[in-house]
Amino acid sequence: MMQKHIEKKMDIKDFLKKDSISREEIVRLLQTEGEERNLLFRKSAEVKQKFIGNKVWLRGLIEFSNVCGKDCLYCGIRKGNKNLKRYNLTDDEILESAQFAYENHYASLALQSGEIESNAFTERIENLLHKIKELSKGEIGITLSVGEQEPEVYKRWFDAGAHRYLLRIEATNSELYKKIHPNDNKHDFGRRQECLKNLQDIGYQTGTGVMIGLPFQTTEDLAGDLIFMRDFNIDMCGMGPFIEHADTPLINYSGTLLPLKERFDLTLKMIAILRIMMKDINIVAATALQAIDPIGREKAIKIGANILMPNITPGKYRDSYKLYNNKPCTDDSAEDCQSCLEARISLADAEIVYNEWGDSKHYERRKGIKA
Ligand code: SF4
Repeated sequence: MMQKHIEKKMDIKDFLKKDSISREEIVRLLQTEGEERNLLFRKSAEVKQKFIGNKVWLRGLIEFSNVCGKDCLYCGIRKGNKNLKRYNLTDDEILESAQFAYENHYASLALQSGEIESNAFTERIENLLHKIKELSKGEIGITLSVGEQEPEVYKRWFDAGAHRYLLRIEATNSELYKKIHPNDNKHDFGRRQECLKNLQDIGYQTGTGVMIGLPFQTTEDLAGDLIFMRDFNIDMCGMGPFIEHADTPLINYSGTLLPLKERFDLTLKMIAILRIMMKDINIVAATALQAIDPIGREKAIKIGANILMPNITPGKYRDSYKLYNNKPCTDDSAEDCQSCLEARISLADAEIVYNEWGDSKHYERRKGIKA
């Protein structure tokens, strides 16, 4: 269970002015309430405005398969869940979704699935990458999020046109990681870190993220997560509140969790602090936020996030890609998502940018690329 009260003597105004925030100061920021919390959010919004502007870029999300070889204890599509209809989009269906993103000027898409390591899977993705680049005349930017793979596989996909990769570490305290995964070599914390390093070395814009409000997680763990992201020098982050799924082992710890509203609030604070720490990275307003608060993603955009991932998976499959319960928008069509998004984002005083990849400025700076 989260520790809610530690030392509150420090004045947050002072360290919001500093360039580098310590672990202790992050813990303190995560505990802010009332006027102090408003101060934190005002500061992160200011930083976002200065380094990113009020723009929001889209990644059309295609959840192309819920088949997974792993058994993470928190995940609704884990291999061991037998109460789930498995699906795997055909290549044509994936390409149709990519065409939709292209025609609607999304400029980027994200291909996501459960984790499979096999030659057939490697070849399939490689092939799809070539075809998506071809149908969009090279104009669509592609993010992959298909888990841990060997470096050669990552390289093949990079060469085939993927240029961003999201691999959420989920928890950076190795003890906590062990508690939320089966204890075997398929779920090895060291390998996950290695994969992230390999992605970065190959040249991907590399993203990671964590779950917020997990059982056994402390405020210090969350501070450690942010420090990990800073020290790893990530380019992108996608993090969201932990929402328990009925068909997973972690459901047994529901009684120990913070109320959903507090998990949501902590997530906003994590986003705000990360924006202050890493001013020019891309931060996703995760869909899980909307599962708790109908305007959760907009709230995240207001205080620091700048990326949205509208779901463009063909509607009939969306119910079967529930990593957690109450996932929103599972019965809308892709077009519905686009029109509702535009109205929502303008409410957050932000503006959706079409026809631009919206690459991580942090990556460009890291690589010495002129924007
Ligand atoms: S979190 Fe990812 S790797 Fe783990 S079971 Fe779910 S889809 Fe598979």
